[in-house]
Amino acid sequence: MAEYVATERCLIEVLRRRLDDEEAARCGRCAKCLGSTFPTKIDPELVEVQGCLDRGPEAAPEQLSLTDDPAE
Ligand SMILES: [Zn+2]
Repeated sequence: MAEYVATERCLIEVLRRRLDDEEAARCGRCAKCLGSTFPTKIDPELVEVQGCLDRGPEAAPEQLSLTDDPAE
């Protein structure tokens, strides 16, 4: 639990990763995401991706291809 409090990362992401959620990503809504620890504004695209993840990876596969696709 100390890790949860001390982390500079998204609280939701940390929690989800601790639950072995490989799709964990910054939620854009928690205190860490919205706090002053992040100098840049929340990227709306990240929030959108998170919304897709909440609905499942099949919801918008194009928007999830953030990494290089080996099939390309
Ligand atoms: Zn967050």
